[in-house]
Amino acid sequence: MDVVQARSAIVEIADYPEPGVVFKDVTPVFADAGAFKFVVEKMAEVFSDRKITAVVGIEARGFILGGALAQLMQVGFVPVRKLGKLPRETYRADYVLEYGTDAIEIHTDSLTNQDCVLIVDDVLATGGTVNAAIQVIEQTGAQVAGFAVLLNLDFLGGAARIALEHPEVRLVSILD
Ligand code: AMP
Repeated sequence: MDVVQARSAIVEIADYPEPGVVFKDVTPVFADAGAFKFVVEKMAEVFSDRKITAVVGIEARGFILGGALAQLMQVGFVPVRKLGKLPRETYRADYVLEYGTDAIEIHTDSLTNQDCVLIVDDVLATGGTVNAAIQVIEQTGAQVAGFAVLLNLDFLGGAARIALEHPEVRLVSILD
Protein backbone atom coordinates (compact mmCIF):
# COMPACT_ATOMS: atom_id res chain seq x y z
CA MET A 1 0.00 0.00 0.00
CA ASP A 2 1.20 3.50 -0.84
CA VAL A 3 -0.23 7.02 -1.17
CA VAL A 4 -1.21 6.56 -4.84
CA GLN A 5 -2.99 3.27 -4.14
CA ALA A 6 -4.82 4.58 -1.06
CA ARG A 7 -5.85 7.75 -2.90
CA SER A 8 -7.23 5.72 -5.81
CA ALA A 9 -9.89 4.34 -3.44
CA ILE A 10 -11.48 7.80 -3.07
CA VAL A 11 -14.55 8.31 -5.28
CA GLU A 12 -15.48 11.75 -6.64
CA ILE A 13 -19.15 12.64 -6.99
CA ALA A 14 -19.94 15.71 -9.08
CA ASP A 15 -22.70 18.08 -7.95
CA TYR A 16 -23.20 16.43 -4.54
CA PRO A 17 -24.71 17.49 -2.16
CA GLU A 18 -25.42 20.49 -4.39
CA PRO A 19 -24.49 21.80 -7.85
CA GLY A 20 -20.87 22.89 -8.21
CA VAL A 21 -19.49 20.75 -5.35
CA VAL A 22 -17.27 17.76 -6.16
CA PHE A 23 -17.76 15.50 -3.17
CA LYS A 24 -14.83 13.29 -2.15
CA ASP A 25 -16.23 10.03 -0.84
CA VAL A 26 -13.54 8.51 1.39
CA THR A 27 -15.66 5.61 2.68
CA PRO A 28 -13.98 3.15 0.22
CA VAL A 29 -10.67 3.95 1.96
CA PHE A 30 -12.23 2.78 5.23
CA ALA A 31 -13.65 -0.32 3.53
CA ASP A 32 -10.17 -1.34 2.35
CA ALA A 33 -8.32 -2.79 5.36
CA GLY A 34 -4.88 -2.08 3.90
CA ALA A 35 -5.69 1.50 2.86
CA PHE A 36 -7.36 2.29 6.20
CA LYS A 37 -4.37 0.94 8.14
CA PHE A 38 -1.96 2.85 5.88
CA VAL A 39 -3.61 6.27 6.34
CA VAL A 40 -4.00 5.93 10.11
CA GLU A 41 -0.39 4.79 10.54
CA LYS A 42 0.79 7.74 8.42
CA MET A 43 -1.14 10.19 10.59
CA ALA A 44 0.35 8.70 13.78
CA GLU A 45 3.85 8.70 12.31
CA VAL A 46 3.75 12.38 11.34
CA PHE A 47 2.86 13.40 14.90
CA SER A 48 5.14 10.92 16.70
CA ASP A 49 7.47 13.83 17.58
CA ARG A 50 4.69 15.54 19.59
CA LYS A 51 3.37 14.45 22.97
CA ILE A 52 -0.25 14.06 21.83
CA THR A 53 -2.58 13.28 24.76
CA ALA A 54 -5.93 13.14 22.91
CA VAL A 55 -7.35 12.74 19.40
CA VAL A 56 -10.36 14.91 18.56
CA GLY A 57 -12.52 13.68 15.66
CA ILE A 58 -14.91 15.92 13.73
CA GLU A 59 -18.35 14.45 12.99
CA ALA A 60 -18.85 12.21 11.17
CA ARG A 61 -16.01 10.76 9.08
CA GLY A 62 -13.50 12.17 11.55
CA PHE A 63 -14.94 9.73 14.10
CA ILE A 64 -13.98 6.74 11.95
CA LEU A 65 -10.41 7.93 11.47
CA GLY A 66 -10.16 9.32 14.99
CA GLY A 67 -11.19 6.14 16.81
CA ALA A 68 -8.59 4.07 14.97
CA LEU A 69 -5.93 6.78 15.33
CA ALA A 70 -6.52 7.22 19.08
CA GLN A 71 -6.15 3.47 19.64
CA LEU A 72 -2.94 3.38 17.63
CA MET A 73 -1.50 6.40 19.48
CA GLN A 74 -2.68 4.94 22.80
CA VAL A 75 -4.59 8.07 23.78
CA GLY A 76 -8.26 8.83 24.32
CA PHE A 77 -10.77 9.95 21.68
CA VAL A 78 -12.99 13.04 22.04
CA PRO A 79 -15.83 13.86 19.61
CA VAL A 80 -16.65 17.30 18.24
CA ARG A 81 -20.29 17.02 17.19
CA LYS A 82 -22.97 18.93 15.31
CA LEU A 83 -25.21 21.15 17.43
CA GLY A 84 -27.58 19.36 19.81
CA LYS A 85 -25.98 15.91 19.69
CA LEU A 86 -23.92 15.99 22.89
CA PRO A 87 -25.98 15.35 26.02
CA ARG A 88 -24.02 17.27 28.65
CA GLU A 89 -22.68 20.83 29.08
CA THR A 90 -20.86 22.01 25.95
CA TYR A 91 -18.79 24.78 24.41
CA ARG A 92 -20.20 25.88 21.05
CA ALA A 93 -18.87 27.60 17.91
CA ASP A 94 -20.73 28.59 14.73
CA TYR A 95 -19.16 28.21 11.29
CA VAL A 96 -19.77 28.46 7.55
CA LEU A 97 -19.43 25.35 5.35
CA GLU A 98 -18.56 24.97 1.66
CA TYR A 99 -22.27 24.19 1.41
CA GLY A 100 -24.37 25.72 4.23
CA THR A 101 -23.85 26.84 7.83
CA ASP A 102 -23.75 24.93 11.08
CA ALA A 103 -22.54 24.89 14.67
CA ILE A 104 -20.43 22.37 16.56
CA GLU A 105 -19.95 21.51 20.20
CA ILE A 106 -17.57 19.71 22.57
CA HIS A 107 -18.24 18.53 26.12
CA THR A 108 -16.75 21.09 28.50
CA ASP A 109 -15.13 18.36 30.62
CA SER A 110 -13.68 16.29 27.75
CA LEU A 111 -10.25 17.99 27.76
CA THR A 112 -8.14 20.04 30.20
CA ASN A 113 -5.31 22.56 30.00
CA GLN A 114 -2.93 19.60 30.32
CA ASP A 115 -4.01 18.22 26.94
CA CYS A 116 -2.15 18.48 23.65
CA VAL A 117 -4.62 17.61 20.90
CA LEU A 118 -4.48 16.19 17.38
CA ILE A 119 -7.66 16.95 15.38
CA VAL A 120 -8.65 14.59 12.58
CA ASP A 121 -11.14 14.75 9.71
CA ASP A 122 -11.47 13.36 6.19
CA VAL A 123 -11.38 16.52 4.04
CA LEU A 124 -10.22 20.11 4.57
CA ALA A 125 -12.23 22.49 2.38
CA THR A 126 -12.74 26.14 3.47
CA GLY A 127 -11.39 25.51 6.96
CA GLY A 128 -14.57 26.74 8.64
CA THR A 129 -15.22 23.47 10.45
CA VAL A 130 -11.73 22.98 11.80
CA ASN A 131 -11.51 26.64 12.77
CA ALA A 132 -14.65 26.16 14.89
CA ALA A 133 -13.22 22.91 16.30
CA ILE A 134 -10.04 24.74 17.35
CA GLN A 135 -12.21 27.40 19.04
CA VAL A 136 -14.16 24.91 21.15
CA ILE A 137 -11.04 22.87 22.00
CA GLU A 138 -9.24 26.02 23.13
CA GLN A 139 -12.20 26.89 25.36
CA THR A 140 -11.43 23.71 27.34
CA GLY A 141 -7.89 25.05 27.92
CA ALA A 142 -6.29 22.36 25.74
CA GLN A 143 -3.62 23.14 23.17
CA VAL A 144 -4.05 22.11 19.50
CA ALA A 145 -0.84 20.67 18.04
CA GLY A 146 -2.09 19.54 14.67
CA PHE A 147 -4.80 18.76 12.19
CA ALA A 148 -4.62 15.58 10.09
CA VAL A 149 -6.79 14.98 7.02
CA LEU A 150 -6.85 12.60 4.09
CA LEU A 151 -7.34 15.36 1.51
CA ASN A 152 -6.77 19.11 1.44
CA LEU A 153 -8.85 20.95 -1.20
CA ASP A 154 -6.21 23.66 -1.37
CA PHE A 155 -8.09 25.86 -3.88
CA LEU A 156 -10.79 26.47 -1.24
CA GLY A 157 -8.28 28.23 1.02
CA GLY A 158 -8.62 26.23 4.24
CA ALA A 159 -4.89 25.54 4.58
CA ALA A 160 -4.04 29.22 4.09
CA ARG A 161 -6.66 30.17 6.66
CA ILE A 162 -5.23 27.80 9.28
CA ALA A 163 -1.70 29.01 8.57
CA LEU A 164 -2.85 32.60 9.07
CA GLU A 165 -5.19 32.24 12.05
CA HIS A 166 -3.53 29.29 13.83
CA PRO A 167 0.15 29.13 12.82
CA GLU A 168 0.83 26.83 15.79
CA VAL A 169 -1.41 24.13 14.28
CA ARG A 170 0.53 21.78 11.99
CA LEU A 171 -1.61 20.73 9.02
CA VAL A 172 -0.88 17.32 7.53
CA SER A 173 -2.72 15.96 4.50
CA ILE A 174 -1.93 12.27 4.03
CA LEU A 175 -3.14 11.57 0.48
CA ASP A 176 -2.33 14.78 -1.45
P1 AMP B 1 -14.83 23.06 5.55
O1 AMP B 1 -15.38 23.51 6.86
O2 AMP B 1 -15.28 23.89 4.40
O3 AMP B 1 -13.31 22.91 5.61
O4 AMP B 1 -15.44 21.63 5.25
C1 AMP B 1 -14.91 20.50 5.85
C2 AMP B 1 -15.98 19.54 6.24
O5 AMP B 1 -16.98 19.37 5.25
C3 AMP B 1 -15.37 18.17 6.46
O6 AMP B 1 -15.96 17.61 7.63
C4 AMP B 1 -15.67 17.40 5.22
O7 AMP B 1 -16.07 16.09 5.56
C5 AMP B 1 -16.82 18.14 4.56
N1 AMP B 1 -16.56 18.50 3.16
C6 AMP B 1 -16.47 19.75 2.65
N2 AMP B 1 -16.27 19.74 1.34
C7 AMP B 1 -16.21 18.44 0.98
C8 AMP B 1 -16.01 17.76 -0.26
N3 AMP B 1 -15.84 18.44 -1.40
N4 AMP B 1 -15.97 16.42 -0.25
C9 AMP B 1 -16.14 15.74 0.91
N5 AMP B 1 -16.34 16.30 2.10
C10 AMP B 1 -16.38 17.65 2.14
